[in-house]
Amino acid sequence: MPSLVPIWFDIDGTILHTRAGRGAFQKALRDTYGWQDSFESVVFAGNTDLQVLMDLSRVHAGDEKAGLKDCRRLFDCMADHLDAGLAENPPELVPGATELIGRLAENPHVLLGLVTGNARDCAFIKLKHVDLDVHFSEGGFGDQHADRNELARLAKSQLAAKHVDLAQGWIIGDTPRDIEAAKHIGARCLGVSCHFSPAELREAGADEVVEDLTPTDGVLNLLLGEFHRPDG
Ligand SMILES: [Mg+2]
Repeated sequence: MPSLVPIWFDIDGTILHTRAGRGAFQKALRDTYGWQDSFESVVFAGNTDLQVLMDLSRVHAGDEKAGLKDCRRLFDCMADHLDAGLAENPPELVPGATELIGRLAENPHVLLGLVTGNARDCAFIKLKHVDLDVHFSEGGFGDQHADRNELARLAKSQLAAKHVDLAQGWIIGDTPRDIEAAKHIGARCLGVSCHFSPAELREAGADEVVEDLTPTDGVLNLLLGEFHRPDG
């Protein structure tokens, strides 16, 4: 076991659930590009915000790169709408998320991070609304690259600069795309069975699968082995 175990979380379906992201994206598209979209064909689970924008750009402008020039403005606008939407309808936490992340954050052997399809500001706004933003500072975010595997690679590069190997740790996520990203960089993956069944996540290559993040000591044992002390 290495001296420092990186544990990097996906957000949606892994830490929390919210429907506000969809509405914020729709409003930001309208405000930034004038595009109206019902999002019937949009798949958010496991996707990156940048990939969703490119898919919508193809539909509305015939070119997947059409929206990229103004994407900073789009993501800023989306963050504002998201913050307002979550104030009205707060996210619902995945059971055990607050206690697990709190326990990991106080463990000196753990380095917490994010690998999420959310644009950076949106990721921290979602976490802020469940009081978990204080535990995270770095990661790979969905406005950095359209390909989730590349987000994992970016996260791995950040850690390498600190002489920590993400391949020695875990990515925790709820979709086969999270698992694929973990495998892409050689990390282990803990699947959270929210949108996909345990069998589907195992078939996708998850090393371990849980239904939610309880019980805390059980999940800590899976992730940390000898570095987990049940008394915290
Ligand atoms: Mg997810």
